[in-house]
Amino acid sequence: MDSSLYVLVEDLRGDVDAARILSHGVSSITIGAAYHRARDVTPHGRTRVTFRHDGIHFPPGDHFDGLRLVPPVQRDADQEPLRALREQTRELGVPLHGWGVFLHNTTLGLAFPDVTQQNCFGDRAAPADLCPSNPDVRAYAVALGRAIARQGMDSVVTESLHFGTFGHGYHHERSFVDLGPAAEFALGLCFCPHCEARVPAAGEARAAASGLVASVLDGGPPAVALPAVLEDYARARTPIVTSLAADVAGAVAAEGSRLTFLDLTGAVKGYADGRPTGAPAADSAWQIGVDPAAVSDVVPSYAVLCYARDEARVAEDVAAYRAALGPETTLRALLRPGIPDTESAEQLAAKVKAARTSGADTVDYYQYGLVPLPALARIPR
Ligand SMILES: [Zn+2]
Ligand SMILES: [Zn+2]
Repeated sequence: MDSSLYVLVEDLRGDVDAARILSHGVSSITIGAAYHRARDVTPHGRTRVTFRHDGIHFPPGDHFDGLRLVPPVQRDADQEPLRALREQTRELGVPLHGWGVFLHNTTLGLAFPDVTQQNCFGDRAAPADLCPSNPDVRAYAVALGRAIARQGMDSVVTESLHFGTFGHGYHHERSFVDLGPAAEFALGLCFCPHCEARVPAAGEARAAASGLVASVLDGGPPAVALPAVLEDYARARTPIVTSLAADVAGAVAAEGSRLTFLDLTGAVKGYADGRPTGAPAADSAWQIGVDPAAVSDVVPSYAVLCYARDEARVAEDVAAYRAALGPETTLRALLRPGIPDTESAEQLAAKVKAARTSGADTVDYYQYGLVPLPALARIPR
C-alpha cells in the first residue's frame, strides 16, 4: 500500500513537480484540493510565510449548480494545478489522493451564518464550523466529495466531516475565563434547529449546557465533570456524522474513487505539544460526533492522526482504532516528522514501526510545506 505525503498547492512554488515531492521517501501524494484559511510558516516555500484562503483549487464546473452553498474558488484554480499533478503522477504510476476540508470554512460561515453551529445560548459564534445536521451543509459536502473525486483522484480524504469544537471555531479567539474542560466542551455543542430536530432530548441538554457554562461565567469554578445528559447528547449525534459520511462516500464511489475518512480526534488531543494523555483517541471520537466503528461500516478507508512524541502512545492509539474499525477498512496513520512530535529519524522510524505493528496498513506524513527539509529527510525510505 502507498505511503503518502500531504501537500498544499501553494507550496508547489508555482511549478508542479510530482517527482520532487516523491523524492521525500513516499509512494503517493495527497494534495489539498479544497482547503481553509490559514497563515502558515512555510520554511522551503516560495513565500516563507503563506496565507491560504478558503476554497477549491479546481474549476467548480457544474458540481454545485442549484446548491445554496458554493465553495469559494481559489485564484489558481483556472491554472488547474491538480490536473497537472494528476498527469504527472499517472505517468509515474503513483496514486494521487484529493484532500478536502469539508465543514470548516469561515468564508461560507460568514456568508451564511444560519448554517453554522449554534451554541447553547443561541449564539452563532463559530463561523468556521458548518453544522453536519444542516441540509444545505450536507448537500454541499456530497457535492464537494463528488467534485474532488471527479478531478481523477484515487481517493478523497475528508477532513472536518464532523462537528467542530469550541477551541477552534474562529481564528482569533480570546477568553479570559478558565472554563474548564466540561464547560468548554458544552460551549462547543451545536443546538441549531436541525440538531434539535435530529437529536433526542435536545432541550434538556441545551438547558444543562447553558446552566453549566453560565455557572462558570458567573464566577464559579472551572467545570471539570461533564453531566451525563451532555455526554448522552454528544454521543447521540454520531448517526448524523455516520449518515453524512455514507452519503459522501456513495457520491465518491459513484465517480470510481474511494473515501478516506480523516478522524481529527488525535489532533484535538495532541496538536499543540505531541503529548496526548488519558484514554486512546478512539475513545474520545464521540466528542466530535464520530463513532469509528459505525463510520468504518460506510467508508472503505479511515485515517487517524498520531500526533504524539511517544512510540508507545502511537501504538496504543493505532491499536485502539484497529480494534474499533471493521476488518475490511483500511487504516492509515498520519505522523508529523517534525516538531512537536519528532526530533530524529530514529524516533520517526520507531513510530512508523509502532504504527505498522499495531495495525496501520500504511503510514502517511503531514505535511510537505510546513516541515523544514531536514525534518522531511527523516521519512524512512
Ligand atoms: Zn481552522
Ligand atoms: Zn447543528
